[in-house]
Amino acid sequence: MSKRCRSWRPVWVEGHSGHLPHQCRECWFPCRNKVSEGYRCSECWEALSEHPDAEVRLKLAEENGTPSDILGLLATDTNPGVALAAQARLENTTGPIVLETHDDEEW
Ligand SMILES: [Zn+2]
Ligand SMILES: [Zn+2]
Repeated sequence: MSKRCRSWRPVWVEGHSGHLPHQCRECWFPCRNKVSEGYRCSECWEALSEHPDAEVRLKLAEENGTPSDILGLLATDTNPGVALAAQARLENTTGPIVLETHDDEEW
């Protein structure tokens, strides 16, 4: 059985802004896309990382499980709070993507 995306997906509704998931069911709906891995489909990752509301992007940056490519995107966000949160997460990531190698390290 294939897995389903468990993310909220933003919808553009006139007059709605600054609403967060769980607060408003009109400009957010539960996505049910099939996903091969993880808990959120690529469309949702994209929609959330490009969401006009900085609060949403900040939540994404602080979320456990946000992949490093999304964090890399958020680290260059125009909102300094979002960018800093994403940078902090990237520095604490022990995932497969390493920005620097220390092969020539000598002690
Ligand atoms: Zn709304
Ligand atoms: Zn989705």
